[in-house]
Amino acid sequence: MSEPQLTSLYQQLILEHYRKPRNRGELPGATVTAHIRNPSCGDEIRLQLRVQEGRIADVKFQGEGCSISQASVSMMTDLVVGKGLEEALALSQRFTAMMHGDEEAARDRSLRDLRALAGVAKFPVRVKCALLGFDALQEAVKETREQAGEQAGEAPGEDPAESPVENPGADR
Ligand code: ZN
Repeated sequence: MSEPQLTSLYQQLILEHYRKPRNRGELPGATVTAHIRNPSCGDEIRLQLRVQEGRIADVKFQGEGCSISQASVSMMTDLVVGKGLEEALALSQRFTAMMHGDEEAARDRSLRDLRALAGVAKFPVRVKCALLGFDALQEAVKETREQAGEQAGEAPGEDPAESPVENPGADR
């Protein structure tokens, strides 16, 4: 499958993550593992988290597939490590909005490197590839909550009037 045409700066960032993925490997002491596949493109991701006291203390992934999917999960792990589960889910919603063409989300600096993928929104077939990492993250968070016996909680996908993404310190 040919790669979408993105601006060269963004293309470079994507290739950099693809060639030198962050947080790749096996995670000793993982508390949860999620395995997600995207059959339409052949992408596969195995994501492991170590969750401690509601925070993502560490994260690693293994996977294979197209540059968009692998770069996206690399960027995602970089972004969510150290974050609380709620905040990680808020970032996931923000990124999903961006991938569905939300231009305001595409300007949100809290998404950091992931903003390089904004142009992929124009290629619906590849949006799935870009969302795969966060799909795995959502799965892992869900599993973590089930482990904790936390049945109560908000309805999935609910987005009360643009909850701002908290990101202490990272914004200028
Ligand atoms: Zn793909």
